[in-house]
Amino acid sequence: MAGEAGRGLVSDPSRRSEVATYQEPFAIILGCSDSRVPAEIVFDQGLGDLFVIRVAGNIVAPSQVGSVEFAAERFKTRLVVVLGHSSCGAVTATLEELTRPTENQSKNLHSIVERVRPSVESLLLTDLRHDHEALIRVAVRANIRTSVNHLRHASDIIEQLIRTEGLAVVGAEYSLETGLVDFFDGTP
Ligand SMILES: [Zn+2]
Repeated sequence: MAGEAGRGLVSDPSRRSEVATYQEPFAIILGCSDSRVPAEIVFDQGLGDLFVIRVAGNIVAPSQVGSVEFAAERFKTRLVVVLGHSSCGAVTATLEELTRPTENQSKNLHSIVERVRPSVESLLLTDLRHDHEALIRVAVRANIRTSVNHLRHASDIIEQLIRTEGLAVVGAEYSLETGLVDFFDGTP
């Protein structure tokens, strides 16, 4: 936020050789693919620090669940952060699709829209539909909350890790404007 990033130099040769044969990432980040929200840069982290899964709209589909299971089991990582962001294009595209459906939308793109849809469509029935910016703001958070809840119950393995091993799944929103990350879901 203050423009003083530095610790997470991805090209640091000593850190590279240190982690060439093992990794112990302290957090798993399920973030959006948006080019303006690279998790390592946002959190000023370097090689070996974060296990990052990025997909448009930070949605939870089977391969994301599998990736979380893999990292949590293999590396004993105990923190999962769903990292959404302001003005998310996937959320905006879903709201547009719900108001003005496109003909012949790619079925691959449709699979993303379909995963965002349940958390945002009810918002279109409220007064928020008259305020586009507020609608997007609320929809972004609703989509993050949905991914957090979905991940917490996505598999027996994850439920077990939460129950007995202290795995935490939390939700956060990054502001494209300020660089602030607001951990608003699941943290004390
Ligand atoms: Zn996005």
